[in-house]
Amino acid sequence: MVVLKGTKVVSGIAIGKLYVYMHPDKHISRATVEDTRAEINAFNEARQKAISQLEELYESSVAYLGETNASIFVAQEMLLEDAQYTEFVKKQIRKSRYNAAYAVALASDEFSRLFSSIEDKYLQSHVADVRDVSERMLRILCGAETEMIEPGEPCIFASDDFSAGDIVQFNSGNVLALATMFGSPVSHASILAGTLGIPSVVGLGQEMLSIYDGRTAVLDGTKGELIIDPDKRTLEKMKRKQKEFEEQQRMLLLLKGKNNITKSGEYINIYANIGSAEGVETALAYDAGGIGLFRSEFIYMESPTYPSEEEQFNIYKEVLEKMRGRKVIIRTLDLGTDKQASYFRPEKETNPALGFRAIRISLAQPGIFKTQLRALYRASAYGNLDILFPLIISVDEVKQIKEIIKEVKDELDGEHIEYSKEIRIGIMIETPAAVMISDELAKYVDFFSIGTNDLTQYTLAIDRQNPKLETYFNTLHPAVFKMIEMTVKNAHKAGITVDICGEAAADLSHTQDFIKLGIDALSVSPNMVLALRKRIRECD
Ligand code: PEP
Ligand code: MG
Repeated sequence: MVVLKGTKVVSGIAIGKLYVYMHPDKHISRATVEDTRAEINAFNEARQKAISQLEELYESSVAYLGETNASIFVAQEMLLEDAQYTEFVKKQIRKSRYNAAYAVALASDEFSRLFSSIEDKYLQSHVADVRDVSERMLRILCGAETEMIEPGEPCIFASDDFSAGDIVQFNSGNVLALATMFGSPVSHASILAGTLGIPSVVGLGQEMLSIYDGRTAVLDGTKGELIIDPDKRTLEKMKRKQKEFEEQQRMLLLLKGKNNITKSGEYINIYANIGSAEGVETALAYDAGGIGLFRSEFIYMESPTYPSEEEQFNIYKEVLEKMRGRKVIIRTLDLGTDKQASYFRPEKETNPALGFRAIRISLAQPGIFKTQLRALYRASAYGNLDILFPLIISVDEVKQIKEIIKEVKDELDGEHIEYSKEIRIGIMIETPAAVMISDELAKYVDFFSIGTNDLTQYTLAIDRQNPKLETYFNTLHPAVFKMIEMTVKNAHKAGITVDICGEAAADLSHTQDFIKLGIDALSVSPNMVLALRKRIRECD
């Protein structure tokens, strides 16, 4: 029996035959070419072919993956159309007289290095795009165009790595689980595996060998393990664990339509956190009572430039309509630190988490802020909208926001454009400053939403993105808990509601305490809604 440990990506347990596929080595050697023009032509032809393949992948996957997921292929196509990438390759051919394949390999390394040096998780995820698209080009240029073939029978599929393009083709149901030698839990391939609900583990390392092909294996996505040739006892144990997991999932679905009521009759709202209009489908599938946090910055991050009022209006309207009168809380732009847009390039900062982010950007660039507010107010006519503002530290900021809202409303009135008069204005309580003046802030707003991710980061001085500090990042630290307690008291004293939308809301070991504090709503990722409902119903 061999046990390989990796990083868990999608939970679930699969037992079956292991199918191992390693990408063939393409042997990209460096050659000096005489006819550079012919080599550039070869590159251009390969580029056109890759673009057509990506267009086909988009068309064939958009229906079942949704627009956001399928847009990976659009992003990769854009990279192939990007002048910087293509010029880099052509320059290598023209000036150094390198062969096209070698020039593409150099571009792959150079652009991957560039993106990964940006110290920003989102931009780092572009490394996967650069690698994927360059791989595609190299396969075409080297005549090694063997696409990864889906197994013909149900299998746990193991490989050196999967690209997003590989994953979208796995639609026969034969892929029980995915295991990789390399890979990252935040790559597009991993995100897609999550969307499709395929149990996955990445980063199992070089010990995952081709010789394991055809052996019996167990993939434990809840633990991040791949067990090859399990002994009888382990196999029995894992079969029981698999049954328990499936049973849990089934039981949770039975809670659809039920109330979030404790044994002693306390009611608490459960909302879902989303980052796109497509997220609404999942939120509804898991029976969320509303959207507690729509991180609107994802719209900006997925757009090649600042999204227009019309583009934003259509997205907000779609979300509000799909939620059919249920509460929808949309947070205004929270760009900065780990969330960047390619076109938004603030000056380099020593401490970006303490820098130019969130409401600070919106107030410094009122034109962009007003565009978003106009889109939100216009969309409000189509549902039950509240607006939330991130990273507030002062009453003055709230006053400035209200002034701008007034200007927007006056403009809309002047243009006879309808909007809801019921919109509640809320602020994120995610800085110690906001907590300490929450009694004052509560006089100016209709609700608070506690962002425990940032509140923990700023209270404990622990960078939320530093994996080395993961063990210190404790959202139940007494200091954080006292902050939450103070915020709730001040909100309720002023007669306003208070929700929690940070990750702590989904930590079921906190639920009882949050209920005791009198939290009005907990907003969690859609797949946690039913587990949280179950926990609430068990609480006294
Ligand atoms: C938070 O900080 O807890 C929060 C919900 O916002 P984000 O994670 O988007 O910073
Ligand atoms: Mg935050």
